[in-house]
Amino acid sequence: MTVRVRIAPSPTGSPHVGTAYIALFNYCFAKSQGGSFIVRIEDTDQERSDPKYEQMIMDALRWTGLSWDEGPDIGGPHGPYRQSERTSIYRQHAETLLAKGHAYHCFCTPDTLQAIRAVRFSQGLSTGYDGRCARLTAEEVLRRLREGEDHIIRMLVPEQGACVIHDPLRGEVTFDYSVIDHQVLLKSDGFPTYHLANVVDDHLMGITHVIRGEEWLPSLPKHLLLYQYFEWDAPVVYHLPLLRNEDKSKLSKRKNPTSILYYRDLGIIPEALLNFLGLMAYSMPGEREVFQLEEMVAGFDIKRMSLSGPVFDLQKLSWVNQQHLAQLTADELMKRLIDWKLNPEYMAQLMPMVAKRMHRLGDFMELCDFVFYSDVKVEAEDMVPKNRDQDGTRDMLQMFVWELEKVIDFHEEAIEQAFKTVAQIENWSLREITQAVRIAVTGKVVAPPLFGVMAVIGSDVCRNRLMHAIQLLAPLGKKKLAKLQEHYEKNRIS
Ligand code: GLU
Repeated sequence: MTVRVRIAPSPTGSPHVGTAYIALFNYCFAKSQGGSFIVRIEDTDQERSDPKYEQMIMDALRWTGLSWDEGPDIGGPHGPYRQSERTSIYRQHAETLLAKGHAYHCFCTPDTLQAIRAVRFSQGLSTGYDGRCARLTAEEVLRRLREGEDHIIRMLVPEQGACVIHDPLRGEVTFDYSVIDHQVLLKSDGFPTYHLANVVDDHLMGITHVIRGEEWLPSLPKHLLLYQYFEWDAPVVYHLPLLRNEDKSKLSKRKNPTSILYYRDLGIIPEALLNFLGLMAYSMPGEREVFQLEEMVAGFDIKRMSLSGPVFDLQKLSWVNQQHLAQLTADELMKRLIDWKLNPEYMAQLMPMVAKRMHRLGDFMELCDFVFYSDVKVEAEDMVPKNRDQDGTRDMLQMFVWELEKVIDFHEEAIEQAFKTVAQIENWSLREITQAVRIAVTGKVVAPPLFGVMAVIGSDVCRNRLMHAIQLLAPLGKKKLAKLQEHYEKNRIS
């Protein structure tokens, strides 16, 4: 059997280090056995998916040095590799399940579903669907379909019994069918849900092993049922431990930068990032800590994975990066610096910032040092405008971070608009906001025009510096944060 594995990122945000982590282990598994590694884009969530995110994810993965044998960019024998281009396939498969009696049309409206949930909750039952549409007669279903009533397609789940799943890393895990919802397979917009598309594609693309994050473990019983219903062999499925913040919570951008682009912009080199991600849940023979991708592939054995929650430790990452930088020859090091920022295209972006501000060429360094440094030095009080206080400045900065998160194309006009939106919500002047943001992002009281500066620094680094500034001003507790977010969302639209 030829091993075939895949990663299946959803293009709903900046390229996440967790995607590179899962990709790395899939790659090592495939390449150590002469198999294929595939990239498939799971973009069936029409509201949250964006082709720009897909582009960013593919670019970031390529930057890490991983390569794939089939994917949306290079094609392959099992394409298309983008789920939004495969909707007719999912519809056909949903029809097959309907014909076999393993799925049914559900006509319940959102209000009805809410009412069902409330009743079940009050009865101490699981808050899933109660299966009422599964009991409609064939005639009634036909009539309602003919009348064009809105509907979705759900899968049937046995009422009793349990599903025992086997994950080679975790052994047997049992899930009672009574807690498994009648999963929606096809939404009213005709698009499939993750579950249907994922199973159908893994089968049609000949995937032999699924290696994915732990968060998908509870989905496996539904997936195994689907394999059973279609009468297909299921792949072997491994669930890798999630990356964690220092406090052991799931790695989140509130507590840690999570974008691959952030680490790239900071000057982490790709082989060091992969090495570091490799250390997360795997031990190399002899407990080696510094290694290249080929070395990891050469002796790769998935049984060496450990399940204890790996902490994404920034100091360790920095140490691993230093080890790799130290191994480079002077020529190679220079090449890395050129690839990173010291190239004409990147430097050209800095020229408008420094032009007319220099007395001597050497002033260049000081004028834009913040573009190259990992962090900037900030004093809390410098950020607080006259007649404003520390808490208010912090709240404004937090809203500004949320606003920047919504900007996919991080260019000057979009950044300017983010300033304007926050100014309107908070009733702050643009001058006040730019004072706080300028210090947070550049560490300087006087700096070149801020929107351009931010565009060059990039969204991930800017947001990280702002988060840092927020911590410095007065950390936001969970409750306060939730309240602030509510206030922000409400006022943003009104
Ligand atoms: N689209 C899912 C994700 O974004 C894929 C999960 C899987 O690998 O099955 O992670």
